[in-house]
Amino acid sequence: MSLGQSTLLGIGLLLTGIVIVLLVRALLRFAQASNARLPAELEQRVAERTAELVREKHNTETLLRVLSEVSASLDLDQALNRTLALLNEVIGAERGSILLINTEDNTIHYRAGYGSLMPSTTGSTKPTVLKMGEGLAGWVIKNRQAVLITDVRKDKRWLELPVKFPYQRSVIAAPLVVGEEVIGVIMVFHRTVGYFTPENMNMVRAIGSQVAVAINNAQLYELIHDQADHLGSMLRSQQVEASRQQAILEAVADGVLVTDANNEINFINSSTERILGLKAEMTLGQSLDNFIGLFGKATQTWTQTIRAWSEAPASYQPGDTYAEQVTLENEHIILVHLAPVIWRNEFLGTVSIFRDITHEVEVDRLKSEFVATVSHELRTPMTSIKGYVDLLLMGAAGALNENQTHFLEIVSSNTERLSILVNDLLDISRMEAGRVSLSLQPLDLREIAESVMGEVARHSKVEKRAMDLKLDAPPDLPRVYGDLERVHQILNNLLDNAYRYTPEKGHLTVHLKKVEVEVQVDVIDNGVGIAPKDQDRIFERFFRGENPLVLATPGTGLGLPIVKQLVNMHKGRIWMKSTGIAGEGSTFSFTLPLYLAKE
Ligand code: ADP
Repeated sequence: MSLGQSTLLGIGLLLTGIVIVLLVRALLRFAQASNARLPAELEQRVAERTAELVREKHNTETLLRVLSEVSASLDLDQALNRTLALLNEVIGAERGSILLINTEDNTIHYRAGYGSLMPSTTGSTKPTVLKMGEGLAGWVIKNRQAVLITDVRKDKRWLELPVKFPYQRSVIAAPLVVGEEVIGVIMVFHRTVGYFTPENMNMVRAIGSQVAVAINNAQLYELIHDQADHLGSMLRSQQVEASRQQAILEAVADGVLVTDANNEINFINSSTERILGLKAEMTLGQSLDNFIGLFGKATQTWTQTIRAWSEAPASYQPGDTYAEQVTLENEHIILVHLAPVIWRNEFLGTVSIFRDITHEVEVDRLKSEFVATVSHELRTPMTSIKGYVDLLLMGAAGALNENQTHFLEIVSSNTERLSILVNDLLDISRMEAGRVSLSLQPLDLREIAESVMGEVARHSKVEKRAMDLKLDAPPDLPRVYGDLERVHQILNNLLDNAYRYTPEKGHLTVHLKKVEVEVQVDVIDNGVGIAPKDQDRIFERFFRGENPLVLATPGTGLGLPIVKQLVNMHKGRIWMKSTGIAGEGSTFSFTLPLYLAKE
């Protein structure tokens, strides 16, 4: 190595040494300086963090207080006021308000407020009502966002209301959100510009969500409360109505028995207890079937109808009712009316009404008995009067002059009328008193019809009143089951009417045919007919109508009632048809059960 080279190396080393010394120095100085700053910064950060923690603690405590405040109270107004008071206290606001959406008219209503910042307008201010989207509250609700405004006078969203809160400058507004729904807005105010911090806004937002839940709960509570109230009053009025109806049903003299859809008895009144000899406590909740035996065979149709309706409610046709007169085993006669209870197409059960008509039936029977006795007693003198008048007319007591003959003929014809009346009266009253019994046997209706028509033909010959008579019957007509004499009487009465109420040269037809388990007899004429207005009354006792031909013909108005009674006794049916137009006549029809059906 040369001297020059070693000198250069020496200088280089020297310089390197100087640089290192300088660097170490600088480092040392830096280290000293850092050592002095480090504790101060740390302290500050610790202090800041501590303050932050205190604030967080304070905030958490506030939230907790708000939470317990709003959830503990069911009085929403009180809870909201307390919350706003706490909020004001925590963030130093001068006033807090809550506005809620009214879903009925879609507006925003002032709901609660707390704090002073308000001019002395007490009493004169109407509560704030805003349209949706209107003002700052409207904006917050619409945008679902909280806002912090340093000076409301510089914010276009702020709606300066004429009297209310003219002093506020700083505002925080946060939406009240429940789930997806915004239900209102919470706002705090201060008169100083830029008073609130973002941290305050977080606080208002957090409290807002608690308040929203509380309001929602309170509204739910109110709704449930209202509903419960409503249901309660409905229940009360229904109970009152039910008791009232029960009292009415209890008070009626008729027996009332109600069964439900399962055929179980769920109401009987005291009259039913008396009439049917039942005890309510033993029958309620029991199936009606358990009591059939008690009422005897007579009530079978009644109980069967109830069972049929409860088993197949669809079988019930609107208008179907059931009414029957039954004789109980204790000889009491009861009228039973039965109707189903149907509500909105649903079968709810049946109502049966019982009336004890034993007394009425007895009175009726006594009346018929009386008429029967009187008619019977009248028959004997009548026969004798008639006999002697006939004798006189025959000249048995000497020759009669013309006048005497004429007078006696009048006596004779009136006696004849009287005797028909007495006989008819006797007949119907004995039937009604239950004193006529039928001696049933197989009958050939064609034979009976031929015989009756023969009588009418003779009559027509004697009276010289020509009439065309026709019998229309199939050769294989089955026999019916009836009382020969009475069936003869039925047909005779109907054909006699047809003959008498058809002008000369009319046509009378008797038509016989088998219809299911009966033979139907139609007696058809082309006489004067029966006016529609009279047709309902034609089977009433003593009804004769106003047709001149009828009035000119002697009659009692008892023929058809007797016929009807006799047909009913045979378990047949009777009806009539007529247009009421003279010349179109009438058709009287009745049925008698087939003999085979009886076997
Ligand atoms: P009566 O014949 O004695 O008057 P009915 O009881 O037999 O009593 O008949 C009652 C009324 O019915 C008669 O008065 C008559 O007005 C009417 N009537 C019955 N049958 C006929 C008929 N075939 N044609 C027209 N009217 C009739």
